[in-house]
Amino acid sequence: MEKIIEVKNAFYSYKSEDGTLDAVNGISLDIERGSFTVFLGHNGSGKSTLAKLLNGFLVPDSGDVFVDGVNTKVEERVFEIRSKVGLVFQNPDNQMVASIIEDDIAFGPENLGIPREEIVERVDWALNAVGMNAYRTHTPFKLSGGQKQRIAIAGILAMKPTVLILDESTSMLDPQGRKEVLETVRALNKEQGITVILITHYMDEALDADNVVVLHEGKILIQGTPREIFAKKELISKTKLELPVAAYISYRLLGEGYDVPLSLIDDELVESICRLR
Ligand code: ADP
Ligand code: MG
Repeated sequence: MEKIIEVKNAFYSYKSEDGTLDAVNGISLDIERGSFTVFLGHNGSGKSTLAKLLNGFLVPDSGDVFVDGVNTKVEERVFEIRSKVGLVFQNPDNQMVASIIEDDIAFGPENLGIPREEIVERVDWALNAVGMNAYRTHTPFKLSGGQKQRIAIAGILAMKPTVLILDESTSMLDPQGRKEVLETVRALNKEQGITVILITHYMDEALDADNVVVLHEGKILIQGTPREIFAKKELISKTKLELPVAAYISYRLLGEGYDVPLSLIDDELVESICRLR
């Protein structure tokens, strides 16, 4: 597998009059091209700082970050790096710039100096990819939270990023909106081959990731497949993150002496309980 992003022993501190705050404390990490990675961690664990290091918005105080082989410290390449690694934020309302959806989507590629005809194609493709083409001439302001966030994703997609990072982009949404955004992101990964990094504190959003990276105090506490991660109950409890409900119940059953495997999803758990009869 090819590495699209490589982080090598990166450190980053915020400096202010009150002193320095170490936000990223020696992180090394590879992101494979085409993979789906989830960063999990409670508030203040360094997720957003790491995300900004990955797209060159911040550069490490020490250590290095390479995007497609290019060091983010190379100033002449920062523009290219930022268009390769698109970042979607938490609040969709802060990410809208135009009063008509298609103009909003066209804004990014216009700034990149893309020719008009190609912009039209990109807007079309991006709106289809998030399932919002029917709304192209509408105003974004009347949309639901989930729809607004899909528009924000389309705006980033129109710049043809290789990597899409969503920084808690579902946390302000209702369950329906969350579901819409997650399904959109999964399809972008599976069907368009876009490398996805989803940042969340919802454990259940990590269940079908290729790689889960759990951050704690600016360091990687554990990383692996969802199954490997959720098997490390003590480490998870250290991060104050909650286990998926199915995993929690399987641990309880195991504790009571029932012979069930550790399940991460409800259906799996129900099946293993049924087999006990
Ligand atoms: P997360 O996204 O996991 O909540 P952050 O990367 O935002 O974590 O923050 C990591 C640490 O850095 C926290 O202690 C936070 O308070 C601090 N921090 C984040 N942004 C700034 C900033 N702009 N100035 C000073 N400290 C910051
Ligand atoms: Mg954050």
